[in-house]
Amino acid sequence: MRLILFGPPGVGKGTQAKLLSATLNIPQISTGDLLREAIVKDTELGRAAKAILDGGQLVSDSIMIGIIRDVLKSEQCKNGFILDGFPRTIPQAEGLSFLLAQLGLNIDCVISMEVDETEIIRRLGKRSSCDQCGKIFGIETIKDKTKCPNCGGQLSQRDDDNPDTIRERLLVYARSTEPVKRYYQKIGLLKTVNAQGSIEQVTRDIFVSINHK
Ligand code: ADP
Ligand code: ZN
Repeated sequence: MRLILFGPPGVGKGTQAKLLSATLNIPQISTGDLLREAIVKDTELGRAAKAILDGGQLVSDSIMIGIIRDVLKSEQCKNGFILDGFPRTIPQAEGLSFLLAQLGLNIDCVISMEVDETEIIRRLGKRSSCDQCGKIFGIETIKDKTKCPNCGGQLSQRDDDNPDTIRERLLVYARSTEPVKRYYQKIGLLKTVNAQGSIEQVTRDIFVSINHK
């Protein structure tokens, strides 16, 4: 199974990708996580990406396509994958189609997760994630705001989840990423899921979409 989870920042792609990954036993490929890892490790990529992420802008298409090329060819993707955060531009979508054609593979389904914008802003301002297990929480749902309810690890907010950067990320989404939906609609791969409901409800709806592809 090869899936793309698509949607604006804060829609819950990461949360759902982790759940789907565990159930379907295929890896979640989050380009945001890969970039943040590179920043923490202070690699050449990380040093180039830091200011871009902090400003809410996009890392260049050629860098991103290069990263995805390596990942898709790797052993971990041999039974499938869930792309989370890629493609984010039309050139990235075209690059991905080209790569997949070279590898003789195809995407099974693109799930577009949709919520209204006020909900997105609310969620992004309040999300925090565990440094240890990676689980994502809405800060208002937990008692001890610093401790992961899942594993006891340290909870922290992402550097780019501040009001100015959130605004910029939403603008970038509308301008560069939203058009990618049409790209997949035209080739008949797009499925839309209402992501406004509970985590469990959204997961169920995604499975319905996958099974009706
Ligand atoms: P979100 O979807 O919540 O904005 P991500 O973790 O997917 O968060 O991405 C965080 C940041 O990483 C983006 O704002 C962007 O700067 C960078 N990034 C992630 N994926 C891509 C991509 N495919 N192309 C360019 N930049 C990316
Ligand atoms: Zn944890």
